[in-house]
Amino acid sequence: MPQADGLRARRLEEQRRMLYVVRAELARTAGELKRHEAALVAGVLDVRRASARARKRQSKVYAGAGVEWASPSRCPTALELGNRLSDCGLAVLAAAAGWDGSDLVIAVAIALAESGGQADALSFNPNGTSDEGLWQINSAHGNPMSCTLDPRCNAELAFAIYEADGRSFRSWTTYETGRHLAFLERAKAALTLERPEATWICPVDPPRRLSDDFGAPRYGGGYHPHAGNDIFAPGGTPVRAPFAGVAVEAPSELGGLGVRVEGAPGYVYNAHLSRYEALGPVTAGAIIGYVGNSGNAATTAPHDHFEWHPDYGEAVDPYTHLLAAC
Ligand SMILES: [Zn+2]
Repeated sequence: MPQADGLRARRLEEQRRMLYVVRAELARTAGELKRHEAALVAGVLDVRRASARARKRQSKVYAGAGVEWASPSRCPTALELGNRLSDCGLAVLAAAAGWDGSDLVIAVAIALAESGGQADALSFNPNGTSDEGLWQINSAHGNPMSCTLDPRCNAELAFAIYEADGRSFRSWTTYETGRHLAFLERAKAALTLERPEATWICPVDPPRRLSDDFGAPRYGGGYHPHAGNDIFAPGGTPVRAPFAGVAVEAPSELGGLGVRVEGAPGYVYNAHLSRYEALGPVTAGAIIGYVGNSGNAATTAPHDHFEWHPDYGEAVDPYTHLLAAC
C-alpha cells in the first residue's frame, strides 16, 4: 500500500472515531434533555395542581366562615326584572337542589359568575354547543332547552352534574379559573338575607361601640378565635335580652358573670357583666344585667362579650344583627 493511501485511511479512521464520539455525545445530551423536559413538565403540572388545590381550599375556607342559613322558605324564587332571579332566590334554588354548607355558597357564586342570575342566559360555543340558563348547563348533556331555561330544573341539572363529578365543581370553568371567587361575598350575603336581625333589640344601651371582631385571635385560656363581638360601654350600662326567652346565669372563669338568653331562634351569651338583673323568663328588651369587666376582662375596658348561637349550634358572627339592631 502506498504511503499516501495509508495516511488517508488513518485520517478516515480518525474521522469515523470522531463522528462516533460526537454521535454518542449528542445521544447522551438528547437523553439528558428529555429527562430534564420530563422533570420540568412534571414540575409545572405540580405547581398547577398545587395552585388549583390552594384556590379550592381558599374558596372553601372563605365560603364556610360564618355562614348562617336561617330560613330559605322566606326567600322569593319568583323571576324579577324580566328573567333575572334575585340572589336570594338563587340561593333558595341551590339549597332546594341539594347543596349545603360551604358548597352551597360556592354553587350560588358560580351561578352568579356564569349567568348573573339570568334564567334565560344563553351562550354559543365555537364547537356548536351552547351553555344554558342559571348554571350555564352545556347542551352536550342533552337536556331540552325547556328545562335548562327553567330555574328550578336548571338548579337540579347543575346539582346532578356536581354529584356525577364526585361532588366537585370541576365542570364549571368559572370555578376552575377562580372567577367565582369575586362572587362569594355576594353569595354569602344572599344566604344571610333572611336572618331575623330586624326583630332584635340592641343588647347594650348607648353610649356603646360595636367591634367587628368575630374570629379575631384571642389568647386567654389558650389560643382561640374570638367567638363573638365585644360591645364597649361604660361599666353599669344595662344589658338587654335581644329577643324573648329565658335568661340563664352562665358564669365562668374566663367570662366572669355571664348570662345566656335562650329563645326561639337560638341563644345569645353575654359575658364580663358587673352584676345580674332579671333571670328566668324575659321579654325582648328586658334588662338581664349590667356591663362590667369580670372574668378575664379585668384589665380591659368594660364591655359585653356578645355571642350568637343560632339554633343552639356553634357561635356565628353576630355583627350584621348588631348593626341592624343597635
Ligand atoms: Zn369578647
